[in-house]
Amino acid sequence: MAAETIAASTRAILAGHAALRARLATSLRAGRAAHACLFSGPSGIGKTAVALEYARLLLCDKSGSQPCESCMQCEATRTLQHPDLHLVFPYPPGAIKVKKSGNEPEEIDESGIVDKVSELIASIAADPFTATQIDEGESKSKARARLFSHSVRLPQIRSLLRKVSRRAYQASRKVYVIFHAESMNTQAQNALLKALEEPPPDGYFLLVAENDQDLLPTIRSRCQLIRLGKLNSEVIASALESDGVPSEQASIASKLADGSFLRARELSTQELSALQTDVIDYLVESARCDALELPKTVQKVQERLYSTDRSYFDFLNLFFRDAALYSALAKDASDKLVFRDLEDRIARVGKAYPEADFDAVMNAVDKSAEYISLGYTPDLVLYALSVRIHQALGRRAGKAPKHRMDN
Ligand SMILES: [Zn+2]
Repeated sequence: MAAETIAASTRAILAGHAALRARLATSLRAGRAAHACLFSGPSGIGKTAVALEYARLLLCDKSGSQPCESCMQCEATRTLQHPDLHLVFPYPPGAIKVKKSGNEPEEIDESGIVDKVSELIASIAADPFTATQIDEGESKSKARARLFSHSVRLPQIRSLLRKVSRRAYQASRKVYVIFHAESMNTQAQNALLKALEEPPPDGYFLLVAENDQDLLPTIRSRCQLIRLGKLNSEVIASALESDGVPSEQASIASKLADGSFLRARELSTQELSALQTDVIDYLVESARCDALELPKTVQKVQERLYSTDRSYFDFLNLFFRDAALYSALAKDASDKLVFRDLEDRIARVGKAYPEADFDAVMNAVDKSAEYISLGYTPDLVLYALSVRIHQALGRRAGKAPKHRMDN
């Protein structure tokens, strides 16, 4: 058993955060571990993986730099089923009922959601890149939009605080992990604050949030802030490859993913070669700027445009980055190209447009992606971008400085 139960890709991502994990383990061994930590950073970079590994380390009987994977605690925490490991997730509205009985503290009734929580915990144990919220069987984009209505509520925090006062059952410590901690409202945060101010000697709180600034300053000041940065593309590519993604595909997806393994994994399942063909067609038409042909190309792109994400524009920019590199370094650029299999085409762009201003092209592409995300009509944005690309590429080698619209 042991370590191979952790997916190879997760191990690769954890390795990408090695320095930070080593610091956490060192403080723990030195008896200086903070009782409240706030793990923050953008989506898809492995916050959950790092926080949960640390939770397991806190509960492990040995004091190594990683969970030993052989003690009784590690056996249990591997599936995240440990009586001293408490995981708190944002719930959708109406998922829990609050039972009040006289002066007794209120109890929450989670019976309606208990199966979904167990399912979620099993999914996260198998893959820490699972969204850490209750899925309601919706499409991913819908679920993402609904995340804002999911929250960690005051009754959940109160229920957690009642557990805090109890002794650890099995390990020498107790760990409370709160996912999407920023979804707690002010009341819930204030309730938690009391426990953070006077934590029990064996209690450790791990808060996970995309942006630590979304939490109250009082909460932040009680936590050791652990900021996780974007992953570099080599780490992402190696994680994808260890999941069986072919190396070329892994390399492209990792460069399009803006430091997010999750995003890269989604991209790696897309038809990247189809996207590549679309992009090249669009570029060729943009370069020609044929007033009659361009609308057709734009139409085609629009039909295929993966409008919910930036991949189309990121792809364009990577292509131009390659072209700029090739113009500057020629053959020396070969092994630095993202699209190595397109080297001939990339070389031709540089030759055909000796005066090209690739920086201007890339700026225009970034602007266009921004306009699309702001809700501008894609065909207008793409049409305008074509004209900008045409202008920035400049005169075509061996041609008089005029284009076909003048004919
Ligand atoms: Zn252990």
